[in-house]
Amino acid sequence: MATTAAATQNADAPATPADGNCRGPNAASPRLSNQTKAVHAGEKRFLSHDSVTVPIVQTSTYTFDDTASLINYMEEHMFWDVPEREEYGRYGNPTVRAAEAKLAALDSAEDSLLLSSGMAAITTTLFILLSQGDHFVMTEDCYRRTRGFCNTFLTRFGITCTTVTPGDYDAIEAAIRPETKLLFSESPTNPFLRCLDYPRLVEIAQRHGLRTVIDTTFATPSNVRPIEYGVDLVIHSVTKYLAGHNDLLAGCVTGSFDITTALRQSQGILGAVTDPHCAYLILRGLKTLGLRMRQHNESGLCIARFLEDHPRIRRVWYPGLESHPDHDVASRTMSGFGGVISFEVEADGPTTSRFIDACNIPRIGPSLGGVESLIEQPALVSHFDSPPEDRLAIGITDELVRLSVGIEDCDDLLADFDQALAKM
Ligand SMILES: *Cc1c(COP(=O)(O)O)cnc(C)c1O
Repeated sequence: MATTAAATQNADAPATPADGNCRGPNAASPRLSNQTKAVHAGEKRFLSHDSVTVPIVQTSTYTFDDTASLINYMEEHMFWDVPEREEYGRYGNPTVRAAEAKLAALDSAEDSLLLSSGMAAITTTLFILLSQGDHFVMTEDCYRRTRGFCNTFLTRFGITCTTVTPGDYDAIEAAIRPETKLLFSESPTNPFLRCLDYPRLVEIAQRHGLRTVIDTTFATPSNVRPIEYGVDLVIHSVTKYLAGHNDLLAGCVTGSFDITTALRQSQGILGAVTDPHCAYLILRGLKTLGLRMRQHNESGLCIARFLEDHPRIRRVWYPGLESHPDHDVASRTMSGFGGVISFEVEADGPTTSRFIDACNIPRIGPSLGGVESLIEQPALVSHFDSPPEDRLAIGITDELVRLSVGIEDCDDLLADFDQALAKM
């Protein structure tokens, strides 16, 4: 089937890897916009009981009519990695596969693999792509647990990593050694929203024969699709914008079929799978991704501008602002800047906490990307247990605030920040 899964599937067509399971290259038709794909891609046109929504196939195992059909399945599966049916829950589930196909289509990728959390996506990917003696390069501004995994876990297996300042492409190039296998980065990074120059990074990687793995949790496929720039693998914490409702944990890896197949086989051994009910919530969340991201982008820019102009705010990091070091790169490569804003209050840590406590709409807590606005001081949340000198070295001051703008009315949020800043 040359067109999209959504447009052409019907109940009579035989199930094939490209359409029956809604995976493979055809789920990623470039012809439809991401908004249409968010609603339809990955879903069969006609489902059991004529349901319009993908059923939650709540089962741990799948049964066979007789021994002959079991043997037939086993023989086929040995040569063909996308089976027409399922065998056991750790190896696949129809609801999970539909969510994976939708994610692949949104990222313009051949395939996507869902895992139990964003961290499971990152750890499984690095474990599989790297072996003893290998080296990789990553950016220092990054999700703290990812850095921890690279600097403590992977070193136990003889895998080393060099961290470089985001935006320093000469440093990336200088860090590459004969045993270097991949370049890993977030974009935008946490918490300073540094954005990658994809053409530049991909050119370096290709010249040195390296794989590129990018965590674009903060951008989502609504704002950037790195695969279209030649990036090999894209990782998302689906927990954040993709699921979008602060109600589940999941992660995904999207990319070419050969790498995701290797990851899928490893997932069957390592075991970090997504359950069918969670996959259903992901499917449901993804349907409104474009609508939500439009609001996150719009409110994000509006609130970032308001904060930048406010006398009680020292500095704002948001790629949509001209003052951000990657404003030009982000404007060239992304179609929106997202809803995460980091800023420093012109005050000390305790006064900053008083501002946060005076906000009535955003809730105080970690995470980001949901419909509810969330606000936090990274020094008291993700870096609570880091020695101050360590976090200060990477810019995590007591006055730093990270705000995830939800989809509440933007004027209500502005009025709330205004009164809270006046109270501190
Ligand atoms: C949250 C986050 C993760 C980890 O994802 P979980 O779903 O919480 O495991 C990884 N990378 C980034 C950029 C994140 O924001």
